[in-house]
Amino acid sequence: MSKIYDVAILGGGASGLMFASELSSKYKAVLIDANKELGAKIAVSGGGRCNLTNVDICSKYYRGDSSFISSILNKYNNRWLIDWFAKRGAKCHIQKRGQYFCIDKSVAIIEALKSSIKGVKIAKGTSLLRVEAKDEEFKLIFKDGNFLIARTLVVASGGLSFPKLGASSIGLDIAKRTGHNITKTSPALVGFTLQPEQNFFKTLSGISIEVKVIVGDRCWEDYILFAHRGLSGPAILNASLWWERGKISIDFIPHLKLQSIKGAKKNISTLLKLPKRVSKALLEHLNILDRPCYRLRDDEWNSLERLHNYSFAPAGTFGYSKAEVTSGGVSTKDIDVDSMQSKRVKGLYFIGEVVDVTGELGGYNFQWVFSSAKVCADYINKLCRV
Ligand SMILES: Cc1cc2nc3c(=O)[nH]c(=O)nc-3n(C[C@H](O)[C@H](O)[C@H](O)COP(=O)(O)OP(=O)(O)OC[C@H]3O[C@@H](n4cnc5c(N)ncnc54)[C@H](O)[C@@H]3O)c2cc1C
Repeated sequence: MSKIYDVAILGGGASGLMFASELSSKYKAVLIDANKELGAKIAVSGGGRCNLTNVDICSKYYRGDSSFISSILNKYNNRWLIDWFAKRGAKCHIQKRGQYFCIDKSVAIIEALKSSIKGVKIAKGTSLLRVEAKDEEFKLIFKDGNFLIARTLVVASGGLSFPKLGASSIGLDIAKRTGHNITKTSPALVGFTLQPEQNFFKTLSGISIEVKVIVGDRCWEDYILFAHRGLSGPAILNASLWWERGKISIDFIPHLKLQSIKGAKKNISTLLKLPKRVSKALLEHLNILDRPCYRLRDDEWNSLERLHNYSFAPAGTFGYSKAEVTSGGVSTKDIDVDSMQSKRVKGLYFIGEVVDVTGELGGYNFQWVFSSAKVCADYINKLCRV
């Protein structure tokens, strides 16, 4: 590997690949990734069909500084992203709940990105150990002992989630060592583990139901999945992004008014309109014997109201090994919104998931990752330091 570059891109995931695609070929650039294949997370995303973006892209679906996020997303929005990929043969369509998925497999997205990269040297299977920043230059030192020098370093190394797909703390380490603030990181878009009191959920493993999940002043009407380790499914994954210890609440019967079935002759387990095993388990948990509704006592109807607002504290989450994203990261206070350049170290840029911007489920993360990469590439292209 040649030793001196204008631009080094750390990470060949979604953000690194978009940046490399948009970078002017006037630069002598290298893209480094520890994995043997580029875009490992894109390949597995959206169940193999990459949920690229959403019809409703707005900062309210993200954790992070909303004016920073809006500024980036207003420059490069969902229409831009859909067109960018469509022009390169990767078409998307709305599949459910306003989410754009790839018509073909996710590899079409990876191919579109890779085929747009011109003149960037690709160093796959190359693991970066550390970076030394000195005299407006960066020395990148690799695990095999080799090194290279770059005048510009673009950190596109993602978050901490899914280490088996190459995630590492390198981006956060570089940021920390060079004096940047890091907002608290935690696994997000991930399932919840349970306290002993909710262990009965585990007996329902494999069942999925549509409910309303509430965390603070946010709620999601979507599916939860009872899993052998706890609770999962889209409504829970979204809840995990906003949950910071303490309680969450589930409305198991969002469309049922208990008042309307009080005099009914049918058994309560039938009229809850939940899968039989779920209603039986919930009734048992509430100490209510399953019998015709008209026979239930007032105190039992009062207990049943809990199903509209079943409040409990998760024990924790399934952790980084299962989390789709990492919440938190390099503080946007230390990043210039027009360029993604560090305000502390000239020539150092942060893009994608390593930055403290995290979206809900639904294509919000790829939208952020690709838009931030494009803003950064535009700026560096204008510099013409070559
Ligand atoms: C299972 C799963 C499904 C998902 N589905 C969706 C979806 O459908 N829609 C959506 O919007 N989001 C989805 N996401 C989230 C999305 O994939 C990420 O937000 C996005 O990939 C982040 O892009 P990035 O470029 O910032 O980081 P990454 O894609 O994580 O890329 C970082 C790259 O840096 C490399 N790297 C790390 N450390 C080193 C090192 N020391 N040396 C060299 N290279 C290194 C890694 O190998 C990796 O390739 C999903 C995530 C997962 C895990």
